[in-house]
Amino acid sequence: MPIWNNQIETMPRRELKELQLAKLRKLVSYTYDNVPFYRNKLDSMGLSPDSIRKLEDIRLLPFTTKDDLRDNYPFDLFATPMRNVVRIHASSGTTGKATVVGYTRKDLELWSEMMARIHSAGGVTNDDIAQISFGYGLFTGGFGHHYGLEKIGAAVIPASSGNTERQVQIMKDFGTTVLICTPSYALHIADVMAEMGIDPKRDLKLKYGLFGAEPWSESIRREIEKKMCLTATDNYGLSELIGPGVAGECLEKNGMHINEDSFLVEIIDPKSGECLIEGEKGELVITPLDKEALPLLRYRTKDLSIFSTGQCRCGRTTARIMKIMGRTDDMLIIRGVNVFPSQIEEALLEVDGIAPHYQIIVDRQKNIDILEVHVEVTDRLFFDEMKRIVEIETQIIDRLYAIIGIKVKLKLVEPRTIERSTGKAKRVIDKRNVY
Ligand code: ADP
Ligand code: ZN
Repeated sequence: MPIWNNQIETMPRRELKELQLAKLRKLVSYTYDNVPFYRNKLDSMGLSPDSIRKLEDIRLLPFTTKDDLRDNYPFDLFATPMRNVVRIHASSGTTGKATVVGYTRKDLELWSEMMARIHSAGGVTNDDIAQISFGYGLFTGGFGHHYGLEKIGAAVIPASSGNTERQVQIMKDFGTTVLICTPSYALHIADVMAEMGIDPKRDLKLKYGLFGAEPWSESIRREIEKKMCLTATDNYGLSELIGPGVAGECLEKNGMHINEDSFLVEIIDPKSGECLIEGEKGELVITPLDKEALPLLRYRTKDLSIFSTGQCRCGRTTARIMKIMGRTDDMLIIRGVNVFPSQIEEALLEVDGIAPHYQIIVDRQKNIDILEVHVEVTDRLFFDEMKRIVEIETQIIDRLYAIIGIKVKLKLVEPRTIERSTGKAKRVIDKRNVY
């Protein structure tokens, strides 16, 4: 598979670090000169743009958080006058009030370049017909992928999300070869496909699926690949940094290559803020090095992952981040135990007869936290004998107990009864916050 930007993506790491340092120094001056929020912060910490002499000096700089963006809502962190801003997007607001981001013309060009690299890594070429089933709108998913694919020369179908039967019809009629959406929506499309009597092997031309915008496990990957007859890769980004385009997997499917010439990644301990070393799991802190409209220093993503500079067989020299294991703020504390929804998902999907559709409900009754898991059974199991169903229930409860150390209340539900999402799935309902 060709590498989109050979010069950058296979650059010796020492050169790459020099490039990052030069850009970081420029970035610090740029924010100091153009964003009062950063000027005040750096002044109060006794730092100036000259404080950055080597790459590790980034650790002297302050973090930026989602709250900083919210406090400066909507445009106060922009470094350019609105005259130079040509696009505005907002985050999905998964965890509260959305944050607003802006792009100059140069930022949009950068975004297309970052995306084109990720699409190439995921197998896309100018021969492909790519259907984007991410929502087009304030959410960055639709537009971000759109321009990257056009840059590569693929034929883009801006299907947007929703109207799933029509998505399948388009896929069939137009001969879609690449599908772009959230993994949960891909699963839903696959189910609708089956209901419509469409056999992907016989009726469709799908080859690659590039999925992202929410956490998904290896089991979900296998499920999508099997149901849709395609190769699925993961890609990652967030609106505050650019949107999708920060990192994406190559066909080795072993972690997402970071566009490191433009995004400097650190891993920290989310509690202490201390930097961790390669291979340790922690929170990603990312500094976008090239952004004009909304430059940020050390943005705390709240996303948990592992950083690796190990060689990849594809030939790229860029470091990778492993599958996102959740957000620091999706961690549930149940009776004092830390539980990540991703742990529950892995355990559920190991069981035969379970569909990859579930919901986690947390409640508090008489001051005790209750963890309830609703999961759909497959059609086959639904019509199976009761004994088999009870066996599966026990198997799941025991498995979850072994992994998280908590006895869950499990409810097996009928096929197609858990609400489907066309964007980011809402898998956790925490009712405790209401009290
Ligand atoms: P919001 O934070 O409101 O959801 P965005 O729409 O910008 O805003 O989404 C970015 C977030 O989506 C990331 O911080 C991360 O939590 C999640 N995300 C994006 N891509 C992936 C991915 N490939 N795997 C896991 N999570 C992802
Ligand atoms: Zn690779």
